[in-house]
Amino acid sequence: MSNSPSPNGPTLLLRYTDGGVTPTQLREYISDAGFFQPLRQTLGLYVHIPFCRTRCRFCSFYIEPHRVQQVRAFLQAAIQEIEYYAHHIGLRDVPVETVYVGGGTPTTLHPQELNGLLQAIRTAFMVRPWAELCVEGHPASLTLEMISALVKAGWNRLSLGVQSFDVRELRMLGGRPSTRVTQQALRLAKAVGFHNINVDLMYGLPGQTLETWRASLEDLLAFAPTHCSCYALTVEEGSIFFEESTRGRMVEPDPALQNAMEAMASSALQHAGYEQYEISNFSQPGYACRHNQRYWRDEPYLGLGPSAQSCLGSLRFGNVGNLSAYCSILRNERLPIDELDFRSSEQVARETVVFGLRLLQGVPDKKVSPLLQAQTEWKRALQSLKDEGLLVHERGRLRLTALGRRYADTVAVALL
Ligand code: SF4
Repeated sequence: MSNSPSPNGPTLLLRYTDGGVTPTQLREYISDAGFFQPLRQTLGLYVHIPFCRTRCRFCSFYIEPHRVQQVRAFLQAAIQEIEYYAHHIGLRDVPVETVYVGGGTPTTLHPQELNGLLQAIRTAFMVRPWAELCVEGHPASLTLEMISALVKAGWNRLSLGVQSFDVRELRMLGGRPSTRVTQQALRLAKAVGFHNINVDLMYGLPGQTLETWRASLEDLLAFAPTHCSCYALTVEEGSIFFEESTRGRMVEPDPALQNAMEAMASSALQHAGYEQYEISNFSQPGYACRHNQRYWRDEPYLGLGPSAQSCLGSLRFGNVGNLSAYCSILRNERLPIDELDFRSSEQVARETVVFGLRLLQGVPDKKVSPLLQAQTEWKRALQSLKDEGLLVHERGRLRLTALGRRYADTVAVALL
């Protein structure tokens, strides 16, 4: 046992402002967190590509403008990070079930660069032959050359941030291509060989009406992707919308209209044969996103790239959200982690329940019972959420009601 903080004690947050963590140190932490103990562990890998051509007005993510020099430095650092985790940390024999490359806009990279990353992951880790290999794309960058190269390299899921099929809404969101370009990209992706495609749509946009939302849903269903994520617009600090809203130049989404739009999406998609398996996610049978389900089931995931987050056993850690710091820490042969904490066993149990409640099937009794037995206050909080009609316990599972799904964040705060 090393002298690192106990994973079973209270949560302890460590901040690394002095330039990351050595691979040896991190390996000890992961070992102390019990990750190497159950031999049948699997991993989901996330790679964050921080580049975008322009900033969408609703976006508050960490992004960098696409520049050749920065891309080159990033790719070099990312490959070094992959190799550290596989060879120095000892994750190379842990089967990888999913790879998800998101951002940012991964398809700002050249297809050979994206495929090179996938190849590096396959060489370094034990990627299952049936792994879900998903890449996020921007409709404007999906040329025939790009799609063909991605399919050929073995990517088997494409996720597209479409957001709307309405011309005016797309213009208002900024950074989006026209409806025609979007539809063309979707048709091309399907024709060239992406069978499993996710489309992200947003509702509650400024100026959006029930009619324009219905039309976007109809356009989506005409294309019939295997998966759809429908998100309500939230005005996040750091976005252009936030600035406009604080200056009184933007009307915040109307919650009642958002609720009506959510109900419309749920009904239209279910009527068309999609299953709603998570608060914002719908899929055709057998196409629920395997990578994202790992987060909701509290299964291990490793995040690579600036600002990416990881959770291995009771250990949770996050990379520095700055590209030049990320590259220079790796050049100094350290891992670019700036925050790390051990979750106590009680916190792991609570988070397993709270994340699991996002899934419509809810959480099985065996995950809830230990908390009910040991935590009187938690039990009281749970009972009060049930009394308010936000949670229901039936057929051996705890789950959110339809009302509870609308107030999922409130439920999460009460139970964490
Ligand atoms: S493409 Fe995605 S990450 Fe990039 S600015 Fe738009 S929403 Fe943000």
